[in-house]
Amino acid sequence: MEYEAVIGLEVHAQLKTKSKIFCGCSTAFGADPNHHTCPVCLGMPGVLPVLNREVVNYTIRTGLALNCTINSVSRFARKNYFYPDLPKGYQISQYELPLCEHGHLIIDVNGTERRIGITRIHMEEDAGKNIHGEKGDPSSYVDLNRTGVPLMEIVSEPDIRTPEEAAAYMRKLRSIVRYLDVCDGNMEEGSLRCDANISLRPVGATELGVKAELKNMNSFRNVQKALEYEVKRQTRLLEEGGSVIQETRLWDTDRGMTLSMRGKEEAHDYRYFPDPDLVPLQVDHAWIEEVKGTLPELPDAKRERFVTEYDLPRYDAEVLTASRELAAYFEECNKRAQSPKVVSNWIMGDLLRECKGDEQEILSCPVRPEMLAEMIGMIGKGTISGKIAKTVFAEMMRSGKSPGVIVKEKNLVQITDEGEIVKIVEEVIAANPAQVDQFRAGKEKVLGFFVGQVMKASRGKANPAAVNKLLKERL
Ligand SMILES: [Zn+2]
Repeated sequence: MEYEAVIGLEVHAQLKTKSKIFCGCSTAFGADPNHHTCPVCLGMPGVLPVLNREVVNYTIRTGLALNCTINSVSRFARKNYFYPDLPKGYQISQYELPLCEHGHLIIDVNGTERRIGITRIHMEEDAGKNIHGEKGDPSSYVDLNRTGVPLMEIVSEPDIRTPEEAAAYMRKLRSIVRYLDVCDGNMEEGSLRCDANISLRPVGATELGVKAELKNMNSFRNVQKALEYEVKRQTRLLEEGGSVIQETRLWDTDRGMTLSMRGKEEAHDYRYFPDPDLVPLQVDHAWIEEVKGTLPELPDAKRERFVTEYDLPRYDAEVLTASRELAAYFEECNKRAQSPKVVSNWIMGDLLRECKGDEQEILSCPVRPEMLAEMIGMIGKGTISGKIAKTVFAEMMRSGKSPGVIVKEKNLVQITDEGEIVKIVEEVIAANPAQVDQFRAGKEKVLGFFVGQVMKASRGKANPAAVNKLLKERL
């Protein structure tokens, strides 16, 4: 029997606000333990939470970007559980009335677009962090700096069918929250965390199979690998006549497998109820419009504009708009070079290879857009060849010098003067009589050998078109 996977993702995104969700404490990373705390986030009795308006703004921004309805009334709830890093004994979250609902996101996998529903986006506070056995110390400690740091939970519909689509969904979501500047999207540091629900069902069936919940996936690659593992594991179970049990499983990066963490019978009963300390949140039309006015151009819109305005292939436009930084780099460079496809080729090739596609590396890349534009201009004018440009690019990357300076210092100006090239051509012909005979006997492929020799003798500086022309004339 053929099975298909039914996957839904729950993504926690840490919001980039300066202060926590219910108090004025700083959200800055890296302070000494328990330095960014106050009676509210320490969970002292008798204190009252006050909602940070910026958290609501950020969540509305995200909701609008993901085509959600923004509910005019939403409510905070207490999610009760006991854990040492949760001093109040409950987490303030949203439950039956979240801020955003019924949205969607478009993903593109191998040229096929798919629409993935967004069930809801709600706001909640983060918990603290337990520290065990550091540096051989047998004691355990609790650091509450992170307690009350604002999170957004983005829950998708079970519309995802393959691990590859799940990874594409995560990438798109990360791109959008980064465009919106509401979350830094750093999965390794935990600012974007992902849990997945996955079940299998026979192809064509409509009811859902028993699902497993996967946790602990801290990169796109791990999301994809963990889901691939689960598809295989569940398929094998069903094919052998067994059944999948509902449980929570952890992804073990080192062993490349998922492991059972707890079963359904141990599942938490959170006993949600409305938080009596927080009044229902009312968001009127004017507030939503105000936030709408601050939305930037988002990846999908930018990609479409790149295709129409710059006449770029869809694939190029998709790559270039994956991050705001890269899109800005392209536009800045092209403003000067006025040659979109050439600029795109250099960015997608040499630049992205050097920067590994990382946004921070693009921002701090020694080759600034104006330098790349200048170099492209030099190729256009015939000052340097496309081949020499590769050397110039590598040197710009290494030294941060402008292409003009590099070309002058290293004497890389292309030789276009035919007289100078003729001299080299004649020398090469004279030095290789055997190949000359082969060529004259009709073996035209030998021409490539001669071009290579001339280019080598000129240290790559001879104009290739002129070399070809002059060789043919003299052979
Ligand atoms: Zn505080």
